[in-house]
Amino acid sequence: MSFTDTIYALASGRGRAGVAVVRISGPGAVASLEGMTGKTAPDPRVASLRNLYRSSNKSVIDQSLVILFKGPESFTGEDVVELHLHGGPAILAAVMEELSGFPGHRPAMPGEFTRRAFEHGKMDLTEAEGLGDLVNAETEAQATQALRQMQGELGRIYEGWRSALVSSLAHLEADIDFPDEDLPGGVAAAVAPKVALLKKEIIDHLSDGHRGEKIREGLDVVILGRPNVGKSSLLNALARRDAAIVSDEAGTTRDIIEVPMDLAGYPVTIVDTAGLRLSDNRIEREGVRRARERAARADIRLFMTTADAPMIPDEFADLLQDGDYRLVNKTDLVVEKPETETAPRLFPLSVMAGEGLDALLAELEMDVTNRLDLSGAPALTRVRHRQALEECAAALERFDGSMEPELAAEDIRLAVRALGRITGRIDVEDVLDVIFGDFCIGK
Ligand code: GDP
Repeated sequence: MSFTDTIYALASGRGRAGVAVVRISGPGAVASLEGMTGKTAPDPRVASLRNLYRSSNKSVIDQSLVILFKGPESFTGEDVVELHLHGGPAILAAVMEELSGFPGHRPAMPGEFTRRAFEHGKMDLTEAEGLGDLVNAETEAQATQALRQMQGELGRIYEGWRSALVSSLAHLEADIDFPDEDLPGGVAAAVAPKVALLKKEIIDHLSDGHRGEKIREGLDVVILGRPNVGKSSLLNALARRDAAIVSDEAGTTRDIIEVPMDLAGYPVTIVDTAGLRLSDNRIEREGVRRARERAARADIRLFMTTADAPMIPDEFADLLQDGDYRLVNKTDLVVEKPETETAPRLFPLSVMAGEGLDALLAELEMDVTNRLDLSGAPALTRVRHRQALEECAAALERFDGSMEPELAAEDIRLAVRALGRITGRIDVEDVLDVIFGDFCIGK
């Protein structure tokens, strides 16, 4: 696909800065570079110092570093120019004004450079998503996962599966048009073992405990307990640590407070809920209902009680799951230490005195690291991927080697299409390419 218009935008952050980068992409990029500098464009990929001039009175707007990337060896696959300007609002406004005056030039829409990169085959959809995640990453694990996806780690897996299926499909289609009498049981029976193996790989890939999605979105850790046991104090104590991600606005509702945190490089949202107690008050009951609902779908629950009544109260004991935590707070108030049960993940605390918090944090960090382990196989990162893979697996499940080739081919075709939607490479030409490349039909 080729675009006729040339797009431009500020590629670096807004505001005053040492340097601001404006990116221009499209067929007119070289012309606007030469127009603004009054010189022929420098050699590709050579950073060159140039004055940029106003077209109206030839006054200098800025002295900037310019770089030309000749298409297709550029981010978008088109001619791309980068202007490294001094990062002040007046300079930026003047450069934008100049650019708007060149024929076919217009400001880029959100994501449009990446969209062009995709359209020109510079990256597939999963790589484009990885790039988006990388820009948004707030923790180390998020950045690592995003970078791997941007570099094609997921795309290669799906593309590998897809091309294996395309090859099976090509054999089936050829058999429909030119039946192969030599293959007992037909081509469908011959490709069945491959299809079964692939289905297993996809199902294994799907049963990942939503690891990749949770690295993107964060694990939910909910603090539960009766009013006044010290839940908010714990949240505040945790939030004051370096771990709290301050750049993110805490989503605050009347009865649920969330603090995004970075635990050992992994994103976690700590949630403080309304105190759980049975109540006749309608509003309070609603708060409790929401807290219970939130707790039930959280990844980890921290049940907080106090040292004078350390057992989990009946009204929310049903929410306790394996791997959850029990925190017994206010140990400073009792002379005798609470009975040392040997339950795993039982932490005596005094949030007020700052006691026991380090041990709790250390355990949480280890727990989160184990749950979201980045060192494992690449994990899918979006519901979109999951839905397409489930669709693909369902189509492969329907496939049966004893089917008529036409029906067998249809299931494989649906499976191929589902995978193609993930990477954005749905293309019937592929099937034709394999047929003609592999089979020498018409010989
Ligand atoms: P929440 O209703 O469960 O969120 O409880 P808060 O965090 O608001 O705390 C209730 C009261 O208990 C406050 O007065 C806190 O100062 C107090 N508190 C919290 N942690 C401790 C602790 O470790 N020891 C003592 N003695 N008091 C605490």
